[in-house]
Parts: sequence; C-alpha cells; structure tokens
Amino acid sequence: MSTLSPDNFYSQLFAAKAEKNAIPRIDLHSHTTCSDGQLTPQTLVDRAVNFQLDVLAITDHDSVAGLDSAKRYILDKKLPLKLVSGIEISTYWHGFDIHVVGLNIDETNPVLNELIEQQQAARELRAQKMGEKLEKCGFIGVYEQAKKLAGDGSITRSHFAQILLQQGKVNHLQAAFDKYIGKGKRAYVKPLWCDIAEAVDVIHCAGGSAVLAHPIRYDLSGKWRRKLIVEFKAAGGDGLEIVLPQMNPEQRRLMLSYCHEYDLCASLGSDFHYPSKWSDLGRNLYLPEDCRPIWQLW
Ligand code: AMP
Ligand code: MN
Ligand code: MN
Ligand code: MN
Repeated sequence: MSTLSPDNFYSQLFAAKAEKNAIPRIDLHSHTTCSDGQLTPQTLVDRAVNFQLDVLAITDHDSVAGLDSAKRYILDKKLPLKLVSGIEISTYWHGFDIHVVGLNIDETNPVLNELIEQQQAARELRAQKMGEKLEKCGFIGVYEQAKKLAGDGSITRSHFAQILLQQGKVNHLQAAFDKYIGKGKRAYVKPLWCDIAEAVDVIHCAGGSAVLAHPIRYDLSGKWRRKLIVEFKAAGGDGLEIVLPQMNPEQRRLMLSYCHEYDLCASLGSDFHYPSKWSDLGRNLYLPEDCRPIWQLW
C-alpha cells in the first residue's frame, strides 16, 4: 500500500481495519438485474452490507445502468459501503469471448456510453439470430421470452439458458451451453463485440482501470493464456483478476506470477450472479501480500 497517500480512502480503510486486527472485505466483480444477475442493485447492496463488505464494484455485462440506483440507495440509507463504478465489457479475441472489467469509471462518460450502445446493439442482433437458430432446433419463442426475462437489462446467453431450462428443453443451465448456445454448438452465434484494445482505451477514457476478468476461466491452453495476457498488457491493460472464489492455491500462485512478470496490478471478485452454495459476495477474497492492488491506481 506504500504508493497510496495517507489520506486516500483505501489507506484509511486498511489502517482502520488493522487497528482491529482485520482486513477490509473487498469484492470488485458482481452482477445485478441490469444484466444476468438475479438481484436488483438495491438488493445486492443490502446483501453486501449484511455480509459486512467494505467495498463493492457492480460490473454488469456491457451496462452501467445499475450504478445510479445503487449509489442513491447507499446515500439515502446512509449505508457503510463504498460502491465502485464498474462494467464488464465483452470483447472478441481469436474466436474467444474475453471479458474486460472496467473499475472506478465515470459512468457518464460519453465515449463509454457510445461503446455501450454498440455492444447493446451487438447483443440484440446476436439474441435475434440465436432465437432463429433455436427455432430451427424446434424451440419456438425463446427469443421473445429471453427478452422478457432480461427486461431493461442487457440480454445475455444466461437468459436464453434460463428459458431453455424453464421449458424443460435442458435439465440444467450448463446443458443449455453444452448443447445449444456454447461456442460452436447448434444455436451459437458469433458475437460482434469490440476488441480488447478498444475496451481498454474506452475504460481509460472514462478514467477507469482495465482488468482482465477471470483469466483461468477461458478455455485456453497455457500458451494461449500467456499470449492473451501479453496482448492485454500491450493494449494498456492495468490488472488481472487473480483471486476468484473457485480458484485453487496453485492457480492463485500462477496468476500472481503473471502479475509480477508483466507488471500488472491485482484485482479480486466473486463474479456474483445469485446466491448459491458455492460462492457469494466477498467470500474468501483476499489478495496476497506481494502484489499491487488495483486500487493503488485510484
Ligand atoms: P453472454 O455475455 O451473453 O455471452 O453471456 C455470458 C454469461 O453467461 C456469462 O457471464 C455467464 O454468466 C454465463 N455463462 C457463460 N458460459 C456459461 C456456461 N458454460 N455455463 C453457465 N453459464 C455460463
Ligand atoms: Mn454473467
Ligand atoms: Mn465474465
Ligand atoms: Mn462477470
């Protein structure tokens, strides 16, 4: 924490916690009903406060729509939670969907909002085409129902998976991806996302930090993962999400070594979508000592 000035919010937070022999609870990756999360921004904030989080970033897929109501709710209720404005931008890289999280952004930035509009148009187009492909599989009206489920939020493949599950076309959500809407499957549609460099530039333009989301979760070999991290760094990326609840110690060590090797900051997050047995807001999220936390840039 040495590069932060003593009056910085995070310096003060860590100092105050240290006096009580504790460390802050920080979660920099979560979703709401503004994309494929199941809790409204207000309910998510309540859950974060109940779980005694100190800092929460809301990072909806290609959307900043939940931030304003979450912020107002925190102010109105005088809740003890620092909200970090965030977004998770989908990018297209060598045939892979790569997610770039923007943190500490100014969500009113016009360049950011222009990119959001483009991404939303790409989501809508992909959703329509996915609906058409699912009709060819014999499933009628999935697009319309997924659209209804998404409401005003970003329409995602999660919504399609939920409808296929509700209709009994699959037995669980994963099967919807494995059989129909996952990469290369019958109803898969190649998305028209921006590229990594554009996402990073726009996040910087909005005053934020660009973090490569969940690097272990992509279906990449070690060689390709390294290539991704090299290119992310070359594009101006600031950090890697090195701590997620599902990561084992070996994976955490590997991610930390990438931070050292490529001089990248470290971030952490639950990628919370809904309450479940396996992961929840802020659970088991602590950065190792020997890394530069992303909030050192703020
Ligand atoms: P999209 O951004 O519309 O392609 O939707 C991606 C979202 O679907 C991710 O953020 C996850 O929440 C969810 N998802 C992606 N792949 C899977 C999978 N294999 N099983 C379950 N959920 C998935
Ligand atoms: Mn999601
Ligand atoms: Mn993601
Ligand atoms: Mn996410």
